[in-house]
Amino acid sequence: MPNNHWDSLAEQALAGEPLAIEQALEILAAPDDELVDLLAAAFRVRRHYFGTRVRLNFLVNAKSGHCGEDCGYCSQSRVSTAEIPRHQLLSKQELVDAAERALELKASTCCIVTSARKPSTRELSDVAEAAEEIKERHPGLKLCACLGEINSEQARALKASGIDRYNHNLNTAASHYPEICSTHSHADRARTVETVAVAGLSPCSGLIVGLGETSEQLVEACFALRDSGADSIPVNFLLPIEGTPLGDHDPGLDPRYCLKALCTFRLACPEREIRLAAGRELHLGSLQPLALYPANSIFVADYLTEPGQAPEDDYRMIEELGFEIEPVGAPSNTGS
Ligand code: SF4
Repeated sequence: MPNNHWDSLAEQALAGEPLAIEQALEILAAPDDELVDLLAAAFRVRRHYFGTRVRLNFLVNAKSGHCGEDCGYCSQSRVSTAEIPRHQLLSKQELVDAAERALELKASTCCIVTSARKPSTRELSDVAEAAEEIKERHPGLKLCACLGEINSEQARALKASGIDRYNHNLNTAASHYPEICSTHSHADRARTVETVAVAGLSPCSGLIVGLGETSEQLVEACFALRDSGADSIPVNFLLPIEGTPLGDHDPGLDPRYCLKALCTFRLACPEREIRLAAGRELHLGSLQPLALYPANSIFVADYLTEPGQAPEDDYRMIEELGFEIEPVGAPSNTGS
């Protein structure tokens, strides 16, 4: 296959013509010796929409553990015996402090995350109250809430409080969902993504690569996320956590496949924020910097219950690539 084949996919993306399923599968199966050409094509699209900026996101584990669901990868589920911090919702002051920590770490988005299928009325209003306070003090900081399934009224309340974005991951393909969770469905998750968009919140929804899905199912998940209208798509790579049902599961990932997956997302969803998320350190290894050619966003510091790499290492990686951190308060897209 000529190397300019990958560049023709960049042309196609920039012309607004959607990637086809067969093309996405071709990207995932790209020969390793064409990876640099593929990355160059994905970077062409990323640069058009986002320049060389990298958006930093900071996760706040606002309520940890005690979840009644049984998602197989999750350390906070009712079937997990993993040793993790377990606590009820942080206080308003703790949430404000966490937002200030996000700013100290140069993150332009602070993501407030709680465990459980859905928030209680009290939890939702406490998060909304904290959001009002944070926005009053730091209007440039974007706030994302990730509180589980919510209805239209709750979405509108969060929007009114100053929350900009709502995250609810689809996690995997609809056809693979019953393999990873039995207590709720893919359709339940998709409903919330739709609800938050209608309420005017920016929808954020992503997935976990390496849950035992086939390449076809990875493409199915990618296209479902594209069609969901998610503005931001976190791409996680499974971290098998001891004590969870998937603790012994081999995700079967190698760094080159992870890069091809990220290129698939960039070429399928050209103008969306593609976020390199959990598992990047483990699965990309020494190739991690290359992931910022397709992806334009990362989490800085730790994940919910797992450690990430030191923020200084991320800053150095960004600087050494010749890229720059997106300033707090910057408009969403910065492309040419
Ligand atoms: S609903 Fe969320 S917190 Fe609960 S088990 Fe699933 S992923 Fe974990």
